[in-house]
Amino acid sequence: MRIAVFPGSFDPLTSGHVDIIRRGAKMFDRIIVAILLNAEKAPLFTAAERVRLIREVFTDTPSVEADTFDGLLVDYVRRQQAHVIVRGLRAVSDFEYEMQMALMNRHLSPDVETVFMMPAEQYTYVSSRLVKEVASLGGSVHGLVPDAVEARLLEKHRARTSQKA
Ligand code: ADP
Repeated sequence: MRIAVFPGSFDPLTSGHVDIIRRGAKMFDRIIVAILLNAEKAPLFTAAERVRLIREVFTDTPSVEADTFDGLLVDYVRRQQAHVIVRGLRAVSDFEYEMQMALMNRHLSPDVETVFMMPAEQYTYVSSRLVKEVASLGGSVHGLVPDAVEARLLEKHRARTSQKA
């Protein structure tokens, strides 16, 4: 059984993440999308909401699972009996941080391999942070996030603007 863990904040899941997960699902028997708890002080989506959205988007792909974790990633990977960490690489700017993380994780757990995947070009500029910023200002994020995520972002935007009014 080839099991991979795709860790991140996923606040929220974007089409770039979905692209990487679908590529991973072709390579591994199980891919666990693992949400790091308490990574951000004030996330827009609760961990439970993020898990729910990932499950909703991947209902058609049972090999894709959603979970949360805290503590060391390599400990979580070991608990899941996985040997691969999947990460996405968008641009050179991602590289330095990703290389440090991969080498640190290798130092901590030499039998865990990090695999990098590149998304389709149209997602290379997409990040959760930018998506949240655009949506909070009323801009369209259609296509940049799954439809279910877009709907939740719109709801949150409406709730905020009606509070202000
Ligand atoms: P983190 O805080 O760990 O970077 P993210 O949720 O932002 O969490 O990202 C999780 C993983 O997904 C990272 O490997 C990141 O490089 C990758 N990723 C984020 N956005 C994209 C995208 N548009 N295309 C491909 N990979 C992406």
